[in-house]
Amino acid sequence: MIGWQFSDTIGHERTSALLRAPAFDEIVETIAREMQVVCCHQQECDDAKGFSRVVFNFRVPCTTFDLFFNSEHGYRGSYYLSSHTGLAANEAVISRLSPLLLQWAEQHDSALDQRLAAGSLDSPSAKVWLSEFGSHLCKHCVGEWGNPSDEAPEVLNRRWELADSPNAYRGRKAPCLSKLKVFGAFLNDRHDEFVSGRKRHRARDINAWGWS
Ligand SMILES: [Zn+2]
Repeated sequence: MIGWQFSDTIGHERTSALLRAPAFDEIVETIAREMQVVCCHQQECDDAKGFSRVVFNFRVPCTTFDLFFNSEHGYRGSYYLSSHTGLAANEAVISRLSPLLLQWAEQHDSALDQRLAAGSLDSPSAKVWLSEFGSHLCKHCVGEWGNPSDEAPEVLNRRWELADSPNAYRGRKAPCLSKLKVFGAFLNDRHDEFVSGRKRHRARDINAWGWS
């Protein structure tokens, strides 16, 4: 446990819960049980004409968000171990949540192209992340995270804590929020997959900096 600690600034209560985090699979089960989907959208790709993806937004209790996003056993903690471990964790959470999300869409959003949505989620570049300011597509998915105003680390794990990079200034923070997003992959009509150059090395970026 020495390799992953937290700064005093996040408080004793959060720290002790985070240090007692269960295994990743158990965190994912908690999300599956607690999540409340708020909206989903089909979003066109700015970088490649003819490609679009599905984006689902959901809420979880802050304590669950914290375990998932900030604990050593969580999502980013998996990428910290290796890109490979992170990608496996990503696949595990996407495949656990996808049927629940698609079922929600079937009941609540008849306009959504279900075939695109299913294909978009069932593609390697589908991913989970927090909800950033300015990224909303309706009033329900207004973001709740913005760039930090300082570089002070909250996650103390040496690599993210000490890296001198704007991504590491973000990645070493431990935001305690409640909204998560599942982004499907960008697909065209033929279900070719598009990944922008910026995101091609996402796994490596999160491994190095905690952020992409
Ligand atoms: Zn929305």
